[in-house]
Amino acid sequence: MNIKELDNQYVMATYGRFPVAIVSGKGSLLYDDEGKEYIDMGSGIAVNIFGACDESWAKAVSEQLFRVQHTSNLYYTEPCAKLAQLLCQKTGMKKVFFGNSGAEANECMIKAARRWSHEKYGDGRYTIITLKNSFHGRTITTLAATGQDKMHTDFMPFTEGFVYADPEVPGSVRKLAEENNCCAVMIEVVQGEGGVNTLSQAFIDEIKEVAASKDLLLLVDEVQTGNGRTGAMYAYMNVGLQPDIISTAKGLGGGLPIGATLFSEKTQNALVSGTHGSTFGGNPACAAGACNIVERIDEELLAGVRERSEYIIRELTGAEGVKSVTGMGLMLGIDTVKPAAEVVAACREKGVLVLTAKTKVRLLPPLNIPMEQLKKAVTVIKEVLK
Ligand SMILES: *Cc1c(COP(=O)(O)O)cnc(C)c1O
Repeated sequence: MNIKELDNQYVMATYGRFPVAIVSGKGSLLYDDEGKEYIDMGSGIAVNIFGACDESWAKAVSEQLFRVQHTSNLYYTEPCAKLAQLLCQKTGMKKVFFGNSGAEANECMIKAARRWSHEKYGDGRYTIITLKNSFHGRTITTLAATGQDKMHTDFMPFTEGFVYADPEVPGSVRKLAEENNCCAVMIEVVQGEGGVNTLSQAFIDEIKEVAASKDLLLLVDEVQTGNGRTGAMYAYMNVGLQPDIISTAKGLGGGLPIGATLFSEKTQNALVSGTHGSTFGGNPACAAGACNIVERIDEELLAGVRERSEYIIRELTGAEGVKSVTGMGLMLGIDTVKPAAEVVAACREKGVLVLTAKTKVRLLPPLNIPMEQLKKAVTVIKEVLK
């Protein structure tokens, strides 16, 4: 059996896979089992921020693998401690909890917000306002946090305590905060899976005002937007927000599974010994790779992200077959005249891998994609969209 047949027979069929088996990659180029080359405009969904098999990252990971690959959280390890310090230095946050994924980072954020509120205000004040069209993960609780009705079927009962504000409706956060006993508001600055929708500044200002007046914690899900993706270290930095807790994952590990939840001065004691844990959390090999990644997200890289972003937006805005371009940095959505799935398939035929988000075509290229490859990819995309 070839790779596709084996997978179809033995792997649980939860993914609608594209008919491509990737066997290797280098930077922003990927190769399939027939030797076909692709320009990668998806980064494994915003994960490989320095592309495939980045040498500096691979060296950091493999050196750690030859020291010790795992110890459990019963012991101190250097990569975990160093990574926490780096993340705090880059954000001004005070403490970090490590898990393995975006969903786990969000679970931690939700647990911490509830516990913080319970310590300060007692029972009952646990409801979290999230947003329509949000996406926060696939566990029962993060699905409940996800503001999409189609995610709230099949697995009843879901975790209670989530209500959904509509970013298109001014005043909806205030209304929910008044009607419910809330502890927090949880947002993505740019909704990724929900269709690459950037929250309006007016809506963000409303969230800030309501959170301040009701002492609600501001929880920012930076799982997709984080780690340089939007042209800032974290997307909240682009819009004048000061989160109380941040969750991140995807790009943080450069391709290995790691998630992190970052706590501000106000929330730094929200979790104490025995209240949370994760066997693999802060795993030395993943953390050594993540240290390498986070150290390299500097002003030069971020300027490159903004430059590439401006190039894509300039090329695609008003191009034939394009209704609009949304998003921030190298997290862009294209509302296309042709169905997005058709565009993805046609681009793939021509050697360019792009993604979808709801009805849009979504671009999440490596943050350091060479301009020459980016130009080739954009030329193919424009050709296909006509
Ligand atoms: C991908 C994503 C998640 C879930 O991350 P996993 O690592 O798949 O659990 C959560 N929130 C946002 C915004 C995401 O994009």
